[in-house]
Amino acid sequence: MEAYQHILLAADFTAHCDRVARRAADLAGIYQSKLSVCHAVDSLPIAESVYGPIIPFDGDLTAELVAAAEKQLAILGATYGIPEDRQWVVIGSPKTEILLLAEEHKTDLIVVGSHGRHGLGLLLGSTASSILHHAKCDVMAVRLTDAGK
Ligand code: AMP
Repeated sequence: MEAYQHILLAADFTAHCDRVARRAADLAGIYQSKLSVCHAVDSLPIAESVYGPIIPFDGDLTAELVAAAEKQLAILGATYGIPEDRQWVVIGSPKTEILLLAEEHKTDLIVVGSHGRHGLGLLLGSTASSILHHAKCDVMAVRLTDAGK
């Protein structure tokens, strides 16, 4: 089996994120592969709001969220030796944007957590599940428990 050349870490910045990142960095070390990290700033309107199902998304808010995500990625990048040009913030649905990035940059492994914000009570979160089903490359879902072990 060929060594992975380029691993993509999907970082959601939840409490479990560091564990997923550590696994991706370990694999990159073992395979001597490039490691990139991405975060998708979801552009969907807030559906479960008390104000109703549709809230127009605010451009300034998006810019703030992108800036905040870039800061978080910089911290993650410094911790795991991921250079700035491989820290990617994208705007849109994590499910589709992560897959697009993986194809665009020809990554051969995507590392996600088994859950994040959407899957605490489930076996697989919806993002992880969608990526597992639709990715054209290998996917590793790091099994997460609430104890973080
Ligand atoms: P979830 O579907 O929220 O349970 O998330 C499962 C996994 O998908 C997380 O552990 C992350 O690896 C990845 N993920 C979820 N949301 C994002 C996001 N906005 N940006 C990047 N990765 C994400």
